Amino acid sequence: MAKQVTILGATGSIGDSTLSILRLHPERFRLFAVTGHSNLQKLEEICREFQPEYAVITGENAGVELQAKLESLGIATRVLTGQTALLDLIRESAADIVVAAIVGAAGLAPTLEAVKTGKRVLLANKEALVMTGRLFMAAVREYEAELLPIDSEHNAIYQCLPRAGQLLAKHPPLEQLGITRILLTASGGPFRTKPLEELAAVTPAQACKHPNWDMGQKISVDSATLMNKGLELIEACWLFGLRAEQVQVHIHPESIVHSLVEYQDGSMLAQLGSPDMRTPISYGLSWPERVDAGVQMLDLFQVQQLNFFPPDRSRFPCLRLAEQCFSSGGTAPAVLNAANEVAVDRFLSGRLGFMEIPNVIEHCLSRCETNSAETLEDVIEADRVSRELANRFCSRILDVQG
Ligand code: NAD
Ligand code: MG
Repeated sequence: MAKQVTILGATGSIGDSTLSILRLHPERFRLFAVTGHSNLQKLEEICREFQPEYAVITGENAGVELQAKLESLGIATRVLTGQTALLDLIRESAADIVVAAIVGAAGLAPTLEAVKTGKRVLLANKEALVMTGRLFMAAVREYEAELLPIDSEHNAIYQCLPRAGQLLAKHPPLEQLGITRILLTASGGPFRTKPLEELAAVTPAQACKHPNWDMGQKISVDSATLMNKGLELIEACWLFGLRAEQVQVHIHPESIVHSLVEYQDGSMLAQLGSPDMRTPISYGLSWPERVDAGVQMLDLFQVQQLNFFPPDRSRFPCLRLAEQCFSSGGTAPAVLNAANEVAVDRFLSGRLGFMEIPNVIEHCLSRCETNSAETLEDVIEADRVSRELANRFCSRILDVQG
């Protein structure tokens, strides 16, 4: 029987990669439901091709139009709109697998709802875990969800664990498995070697032109500031139960080694592959089996060289800020994430300079008290306060620049 798959954020880059695997394996996977925020054209195309049971529009009130269009084409997909409809659908749906691929804090509620169904959740939406770490992992354990990371680095780490066939929530602490360190690799982004004095003037288009990966705009900017690696460090600590000092970021410009696990006997296990998200996504969809992901096999004769460097934290302060926030705990990572989302959004729309992004985050962190993140409400309030501060600070910068 084909597994029923729901894709949250189907119109994005992770959505695209997931759909291409479903296309390859119709006998294994059937698209049950999709969500899209504003790209209705893409949502319609997906419905035409895959004819899912449901399509949810989260950002616009255009459900009636899409429904009518699909009906005129003889497609029976039911179109729903809004956040409440989305949460109800996740709660009550018959899907076997949920791919959590909405970008940013907007993905938090639906991703958590998916975890609470106790089904398989493929986690791409790292911001949800960064914001709510302890609560999120407690829900994974309580509801016995099959949480599988599809962020390429975390998927690589998962594959290199001695019990990759076992659920994360049931893993003993990694030290008990003889693991000493996790080496988290990072490409270094498009500005790794760009002269520092030129960084203030870089454009959104330059920041989004990643040397190895083709991704959505927000994560592309995060890769350019190295905030993505900061978020991923926090993500790794929560997923695998680690302290920040047990995870070491290694700049690896080729993006071939997707991360490594070091064992106390001196072994290092790594997962290698072409930089293509279809590999980790197909792993998550078919786990514990493996299927063809349509990915170009790696030719090591062609790759020839693999390089590794320590990250430059003075050039990329976002990495340091994220490390500090994880150590501070409580609501600090949620404040960091919200400030970053505001800053990146403003940078992308040409209202903030690239080098101002870490300044906005530092400003919010210095003004927000770190509270305990005991409840979801605590986290949502920290997110709200940080966004407000970030927006005010950014407007002041604009005023000064005149
Ligand atoms: P994207 O911008 O290409 O797509 C984002 C998706 O989220 C779209 O479907 C969009 O409709 C939806 N969305 C946007 N705002 C929304 C809102 N307010 N409410 C509901 N839905 C909304 O992003 P992406 O690159 O596919 O990334 C998605 C997530 O996966 C991010 O958390 C990112 O960090 C993570 N991720 C992406 C990659 C990659 O290669 N693209 C790799 C690892 C992790
Ligand atoms: Mg990643």
